[in-house]
Amino acid sequence: MGMPTVAIVGRPNVGKSTIFNRIVGERISIVEDEPGVTRDRIYGTGEWLTTYFHVIDTGGIDIGDAPFLEEVRQQAEIAIEEADVIIFIVNSREGVTSADEEVAKILFRSKKPVVLAVNKVDNPEMRSQIYDFYSLGFGEPFPISGSHGLGLGDLLDEVIKHFPADHGDPYDEDVIKFSLIGRPNVGKSSLVNALLGEERVIVSPIAGTTRDAVDTPYIVDGQEYVIIDTAGMRKRGKVYESTEKYSVLRALKAIERSDVVLVVLDGEEGIREQDKRIAGYAHEAGRAIIIVVNKWDAVEKDEKTMRNFEEKIRDQFQFLDYAPIVFLSAKTKKRIGTLLPAIQMASENHARRVQSSVLNEVILDAAAMNPAPADKGKRLKVYYATQVSVKPPTFVVFVNEPELMHFSYERFLRNTIRQAFEFEGTPLKIIARKRK
Ligand code: GDP
Ligand code: GDP
Repeated sequence: MGMPTVAIVGRPNVGKSTIFNRIVGERISIVEDEPGVTRDRIYGTGEWLTTYFHVIDTGGIDIGDAPFLEEVRQQAEIAIEEADVIIFIVNSREGVTSADEEVAKILFRSKKPVVLAVNKVDNPEMRSQIYDFYSLGFGEPFPISGSHGLGLGDLLDEVIKHFPADHGDPYDEDVIKFSLIGRPNVGKSSLVNALLGEERVIVSPIAGTTRDAVDTPYIVDGQEYVIIDTAGMRKRGKVYESTEKYSVLRALKAIERSDVVLVVLDGEEGIREQDKRIAGYAHEAGRAIIIVVNKWDAVEKDEKTMRNFEEKIRDQFQFLDYAPIVFLSAKTKKRIGTLLPAIQMASENHARRVQSSVLNEVILDAAAMNPAPADKGKRLKVYYATQVSVKPPTFVVFVNEPELMHFSYERFLRNTIRQAFEFEGTPLKIIARKRK
């Protein structure tokens, strides 16, 4: 499930980026005295009482040259889409403004937990200024001072109360979590053993967060990995495995907790319906994916065999066109060494951000060269694109009419992004948004 996400929302100049900096604890976004200054960094990691969470400063999400109210509105929409909890910031010095009320209306409809923070309460005498803000309808307002660092503890106490109960794993951001999924007997356990049997490996199994999962963390060449749910794989009898419902359930749990999913196929037996179903879950969950063809030692081969198998995979798993294919043998360990580099590459791409300015140039150029076809006299216009999150990389494209964004054009934009930036191994998500 990953870390929970907190989004900071509010009209310009209320102090969003000041508070963002306070929460992430480093001065990584640029605070300027004038409103509307573009920030360098708008994502960070916060920690409160040993709970870690992502923080988004939505004020840094540039909406192009949209009118001010529209910009604030769209930033609120993005916050709703991305966040588990929203911090709505207002300015004690200015009272409730109509823009505050606009934002409140949008947040209210979302049903996401909203914590209202009244900023610029720089001393205790000013606390009486918060009462006005009850009228926004989010309950008790929290007085804070971003520039003096006051009131943030109470605010964060309230924020973390609203986090979803099970928020993910006890691992650092740079640990690569992966799992192996596939039908019974394709060789998942053998593969895990082959990987762990490599020299240079330090293994220390620890109990995972879910009751029946045991993770295996290990380090290779300084990079930490965690294989998710290996205990289920190694210790459980084949009785459990053989019921499809159980193995699907287990696969789903493992997928949920992974960055990278290895979809293991049996090279000897070929592709089955069930393989596609299992791979479909990983794709829908937005995980990075590598297709592993195991038991390649047992396949009678000539120089065309690999290419033929690859074509079959591409034909049967069209939705996984981004996934690299690795042929190997857990038994002989042939080409086992190609697996970790593939996992590392996919994981990096899964977590990668591209620069907004470059992304925009690429998207706008592509849209100019290849405009969407007209549909009942209307034509999709692309104004602006921005990457709003990672794992998987997710892009919001602002357009005149989101309904005009057809599947084929979305695919065109996705392929454009793929060609311009290295995104092998990871799915990319595109969201069309209206810009008036
Ligand atoms: P945002 O980017 O619109 O969310 O707001 P900024 O974080 O850029 O802050 C806008 C202005 O308000 C800056 O000049 C900040 O120094 C100032 N500011 C931020 N927090 C406080 C505060 O708690 N008290 C006072 N007095 N000024 C603040
Ligand atoms: P799992 O059910 O997916 O975990 O599969 P296992 O790892 O238990 O393997 C199932 C069977 O396939 C066992 O008999 C393994 O010895 C065999 N097997 C696994 N990997 C290979 C391989 O690379 N080549 C061959 N020839 N057999 C393999």
